[in-house]
Amino acid sequence: MNDNPSIAKENKYCAANYHPLPVVLSHGEGIYVFDDAGKRYIDMMSAYSAVSHGHCHPKLLAALTEQSQRINVISRAFYSDKLGDFLEKLCQMLGYEKALPMNTGAEAVETALKAARKWAYQKKGVAADKAEIIVCDGNFHGRTIAIVGFSSEAQYKEGFGPYPTGFKQVAYGDIDALEKAITSNTAAFFVEPIQGEGGIIMPPAGYLKQAKALCEKHNVLLICDEIQTGLGRTGKLLASYHDEVRPDAVVLGKALGGGVLPVSAFVADSEIMDVFTPGDHGSTFGGYPLAAAVGLAALNVLEKEKLAKNSAELGEYFKARLEEADFACVSEVRGVGLFIGLEINPAKARAREICEKLMTKGLLSKETHETVVRLAPPLVINKEQLDSAFDIIHDVLSTYN
Ligand SMILES: *Cc1c(COP(=O)(O)O)cnc(C)c1O
Repeated sequence: MNDNPSIAKENKYCAANYHPLPVVLSHGEGIYVFDDAGKRYIDMMSAYSAVSHGHCHPKLLAALTEQSQRINVISRAFYSDKLGDFLEKLCQMLGYEKALPMNTGAEAVETALKAARKWAYQKKGVAADKAEIIVCDGNFHGRTIAIVGFSSEAQYKEGFGPYPTGFKQVAYGDIDALEKAITSNTAAFFVEPIQGEGGIIMPPAGYLKQAKALCEKHNVLLICDEIQTGLGRTGKLLASYHDEVRPDAVVLGKALGGGVLPVSAFVADSEIMDVFTPGDHGSTFGGYPLAAAVGLAALNVLEKEKLAKNSAELGEYFKARLEEADFACVSEVRGVGLFIGLEINPAKARAREICEKLMTKGLLSKETHETVVRLAPPLVINKEQLDSAFDIIHDVLSTYN
């Protein structure tokens, strides 16, 4: 039992499928969140990168409020005067012809998998029910049954089988393993440019570029899951751009909703998207007017406030400071842009304990895979704020020296 009534109630009534840090958040503003006693924290978690725009961004709240007073949910049984504007902006920014709007990341991933399979049957000529999709060890693409079925994380799948077939796993970053796995039935290689939930794992430089070349050679789609890495998080609009790759299709989510609503999308050219015809696939809420208004505002803010550029510049600065500090309990500082993971040496400290100490000092993060502390603040953060975050991190980590 916890004596905070909000924690006690949540523990009593909410399924225990998470293990939250013992802090009760009641409001947020920009890079800060405040607990129920009014204590302020720097948010270095950003809801797993969903809050790249910061909490309660005034432009996003304005879009939300204005649209909410007009019309919110209509389903795609009808046209909306907002959806076209949103998807036009999305397609123009990313340079693709079409987008299919969904809500959560997992739904957009399922959409990508369906698109890849149907493309393989219709366009590549793969025999019925033979399509294969190649994924990577250590992947995280969401929590549906199909998706956890091709996870390499035992806990994500234990007790939830049986699983759909048609997926192959290869080692992440291993281009030879990818080449060996490709057959004439391969529809797509589905990959994260950087594995976020895997622990901010970066593949060798050039991996995605080589993967793209292999995919082209074998008529396989390269589909990048940029739900976490996209929209400026790594210092570029898409993390794929670090390798100068234009994927055949992209999955976006998280920050696409501006930290306000769940908004996701599968983005591709007509050659792929046209496999969908009326009735094939859908979602009651996907692309609803409120989400479209907020998504459009989120993209506009991203561009106007140059969030990708800020992420690139401050990320480089922050990473250098963390490396220079040379903390004894940190065996590696990984990442690019404001997407940084500290690999904690388990002989020296536990990541969870570090997160608890950071929390006490006014900085929120969360451990990933027991040994990684994730540092991914809202991209609206400035240098002074990042310096304050560094001071807190320094305070905590230097106690292990
Ligand atoms: C978060 C995430 C997802 C799943 O998104 P949900 O909105 O939680 O369903 C999929 N892929 C990646 C890379 C993610 O980080």
